[in-house]
Amino acid sequence: MSLQSNKMSQIPPYMFAELSKKKARLIKAGIDVIDLGIGDPDLPTPEHIVDKLIEEIRRPENSKYPSFIGNSEFRKAVANFYKRQFNVDVDPETEVLALIGSKEGIAHIVPTIINPGDYVLVPDPGYPPYRMATYLAEGKVYNMPLRKEFNFLPKFKDIPDEVLDSAKLMFLNYPSNPTAATANLEFFEEAVSFARKFNIVIAHDSAYNMITFQDYKAPSILQVKGAKDVAVEFGSLSKTYSMTGYRIGYVVGNKEMIKALSIYKSNTDTGQFTPIQLAAAHALNGDQTCIRKHNDIYWERMKAMIEGLKTIDIHVEPPKGSFFIWAKTPKGYTSSEFAESVLEQAGVIITPGHAFGPSGEGYFRISLSLPNDILYEAIDRIKKKVKITPK
Ligand SMILES: *Cc1c(COP(=O)(O)O)cnc(C)c1O
Repeated sequence: MSLQSNKMSQIPPYMFAELSKKKARLIKAGIDVIDLGIGDPDLPTPEHIVDKLIEEIRRPENSKYPSFIGNSEFRKAVANFYKRQFNVDVDPETEVLALIGSKEGIAHIVPTIINPGDYVLVPDPGYPPYRMATYLAEGKVYNMPLRKEFNFLPKFKDIPDEVLDSAKLMFLNYPSNPTAATANLEFFEEAVSFARKFNIVIAHDSAYNMITFQDYKAPSILQVKGAKDVAVEFGSLSKTYSMTGYRIGYVVGNKEMIKALSIYKSNTDTGQFTPIQLAAAHALNGDQTCIRKHNDIYWERMKAMIEGLKTIDIHVEPPKGSFFIWAKTPKGYTSSEFAESVLEQAGVIITPGHAFGPSGEGYFRISLSLPNDILYEAIDRIKKKVKITPK
């Protein structure tokens, strides 16, 4: 007798969970593994946010069940952030919902929108939860290939009519994980009019909206006129303020979609711990210089890594946002072969591109969540131990 539903027994394991098992095995075997795989910031949560959390934990009233739709201070802080950063008005009562990390909302929104058998348009390569949530909701994934020659933006014109007939939801994500590509407002305008024309709703994942370099400012899809009719945008404190473990994010935009998600959530979870929501509100309302400081560090790492990669004949353009490098595998290697060789021979974890979807084949992703000296060490080991033939 199987203790699992058919759906669960067919689900492939979460790729990063598998990688961390492999890493644990190698460390146990005495190998000094450098992990450029998972995108989890090493920079600490800024002190004023931690202090606020401690302060709020001490208040007895904060140990109760939180409010279903999220603490009002947190929702207001998100609305203020949208006004300040994007000049977009959102109503904190009806157009903002607190999430237990944005991944939670991304996964749960799918069954609130699609019926079994409906298509979900998913960026390929893209963040794995888009496709897994679709699978769990018994939807069908349509991979929108993101190609370098089109700046890793999907070509809406290439989506077949029979897919569009039963497509209900489209995920987008800029600055992008894993490609590090960015989208401008014209692209979001095109996406919104495409969504309107084909009765599709958009879920834009903006987890890296504040991880940007030099003068680049990533736009919000809600800056497009009328976007709220067809779109929601997911956001997260995780990457912006190095708060991945806190599990706090939000969704803003279309009221009806937010209402449905809040009903779903009120029946499955009861929201995030109030002190965490208040610390997050404090992060959004407080001193923002911590973001610039962290971004300057990521930018230095980015430049160092790109220079390092050149020495092994891998060439990438510096991206405008995210803390990822998305690069082509060297001549003669598939994504898996290269990731395997780099791990087995150099003790360095990189993520094979196909883990993000079929169009990721031929690429690998590096996450810049380690200091420069370790990044240099990783390149050095790859250079010495892995055979790379110039293209
Ligand atoms: C890290 C990440 C998230 C998840 O963020 P949480 O708020 O920590 O759940 C969402 N989307 C993408 C593309 C990410 O890389």
